Amino acid sequence: MKVMKFGGTSVGSPQRMKEVVKIFNPAEGEQSFVVLSAMSGTTNSLVEISDYLYKNNPEGASTIINQLEQKYMGHIEELYATQEFREKTAQFLNEEFKYLRSFAKDAPTFSSKEEKVILAQGEIISTTMVTNYLLEQGKKAVLLSALDIVRTNENGEPDLNFIRNATVAKLKEVPDYDIYITQGFICRNNEGEIDNLQRGGSDYTACLIGAALQTSEIQIWTDIDGMHNNDPRIVDHTEPVRQLYFEEAAELAYFGAKILHPTCIQPAKLAGVPVRLLNTMDPAAPGTIINNEIQKGTIKAVAAKDNITCIQIQSSRMLLAYGFLRKVFEIFEQNRTSIDMICTSEVGVSVTIDNRSHLTDIVSELKKYGTVEVDDNMCIVCVVGDLASGNVGFETRACMAIKKIPVRMISYGGSNYNISFLVKAEDKKRTLQALSETLFK
Ligand code: ASP
Ligand code: MG
Repeated sequence: MKVMKFGGTSVGSPQRMKEVVKIFNPAEGEQSFVVLSAMSGTTNSLVEISDYLYKNNPEGASTIINQLEQKYMGHIEELYATQEFREKTAQFLNEEFKYLRSFAKDAPTFSSKEEKVILAQGEIISTTMVTNYLLEQGKKAVLLSALDIVRTNENGEPDLNFIRNATVAKLKEVPDYDIYITQGFICRNNEGEIDNLQRGGSDYTACLIGAALQTSEIQIWTDIDGMHNNDPRIVDHTEPVRQLYFEEAAELAYFGAKILHPTCIQPAKLAGVPVRLLNTMDPAAPGTIINNEIQKGTIKAVAAKDNITCIQIQSSRMLLAYGFLRKVFEIFEQNRTSIDMICTSEVGVSVTIDNRSHLTDIVSELKKYGTVEVDDNMCIVCVVGDLASGNVGFETRACMAIKKIPVRMISYGGSNYNISFLVKAEDKKRTLQALSETLFK
């Protein structure tokens, strides 16, 4: 069995839905497990509806609900050929929008529980529409509710045992289908309430199910040809990377190569199930495979993360002292702010953060321990590949590439797969370009 996940743009219109289902068909004697996002833009509209309801403005919510309903009703004619499926889907959508409107009545007591129910409707709608289309086409397809098979535990983390047992049990109940469809993103929490895996979480659903079922592959279908070796919006002539080691993919996902939800690689890695990134606009293209192989001595890609703030603390008290770093880190912990990059010397430490919401408190606390300097508008550029210390000369090549650019911090040796540079935002473009020139030409 293969798990295939299709994102919002891949099911973004009736036309796209018709195209994309051509990819679902399993090979002879096989089955496909398909995970779908909401149609693109829908989750944002549902967030907006909730926002109005939080503000006790049912009229604002109704306006968005009406617009959304019109849009969806408009899709029916185009997607289905038969009266039977047009009516069936129209009836389903009527119920859905009636349900959404029912929340407007309770606007004064609107809470995050209701918001999560509202956010779940995007995926419920898209999967029902696509399943109906498959049935109209005579396919042996069945819709499984993600609310029955994906669950989080008391820490809000996916409950892998539950997911495995529930998915296996469900498949036993309905064994003889070619195509199983389910919703990405949505789940229940340990209280049994409707919840979700955070925005963009459909990738995560696919990886959790693929890991649970130990499928041969997890395919993430998007609208570009795999992962590129640099940001194609900034650098000319980037190339797709054909293979990545799990750790390399995790580094790149965090550093803004926005192809995969960063946390979702973990379950696939633990289960040893390869993840393949593919392009719905060009299904025959090879894409990128992420697996447990390390390509020795190869630099794979460059990525950048914007809106980074750098904080430097200098203190002679740090000299030969122990416990100094703990005190510094505790301040970040108390302010629920994670540190991304770190460099230390005997008399100072520099760290970077990407969440500035507690910056004022952090700086004011840090001033107890040393002189504090803050640099805004910075950017982390990371080079990912087999960068183990035994591979002599690789970090040198990366440094040589950017010899003309002022570098604020360098981090190397944290993992075997990354070297990161902190540069000013205004130098980002030429840093990325210079690295591509040297490393990939
Ligand atoms: N529909 C959800 C979102 O827009 C989940 C996803 O697409 O992955 O965030
Ligand atoms: Mg997505």
